[in-house]
Amino acid sequence: MNFAVDIDDTLLDFVGTYIVFHNETFKTNLKKEDFKTYSFNHARGGTMKQAVSSVRQFYNTDFFKEMKPFPGAIEIIQELKENNDLFIVTSRPYNMKNGTFDQLSKYFLNMFSEVFFSSNHYTRAKNSGKTKAEICNDLEASLLIDDSLVYSKECVKNGVGAILLDAPWNQNGSVEGITRAKDWKEIGGLLL
Ligand SMILES: [Mg+2]
Repeated sequence: MNFAVDIDDTLLDFVGTYIVFHNETFKTNLKKEDFKTYSFNHARGGTMKQAVSSVRQFYNTDFFKEMKPFPGAIEIIQELKENNDLFIVTSRPYNMKNGTFDQLSKYFLNMFSEVFFSSNHYTRAKNSGKTKAEICNDLEASLLIDDSLVYSKECVKNGVGAILLDAPWNQNGSVEGITRAKDWKEIGGLLL
């Protein structure tokens, strides 16, 4: 089967690492539980524009470069790769392509067949111009593994299955047709 996999907060601990960067740079005391939505301005204060700009700043730091995978992610992906075709579908900005490939080859070398950059619901960045659901349909992916309720819902609406990795920002909202998993071990239990 073909599976689509998100990067940030699915494979790699984006928010956890952003928080370390943010607390050190702006002398804040943010915690993961503060991120009740994926619009970072709700957690850090200020405007959406300032939040997006802080993420851009984060992209250029060693914090970002050193971002780590979640426990079990490498092992489960490795096992899934044995019998399935895996694709990255990320809504990171396309200009993060090189940094993204560096991170993927560091932890997930040769595990993904291709990397796709979708449009971003939150920042409205267009990238390839296609949504995650459209890319999943093009790939004939049976499901998307993601931490975003928005992208998961969009997939289910378009006939693609979704596994939603639990996070403080995806707790509110209907999840009909979406399977929740609390960690990679649970994802392995569902798919292996
Ligand atoms: Mg994500």
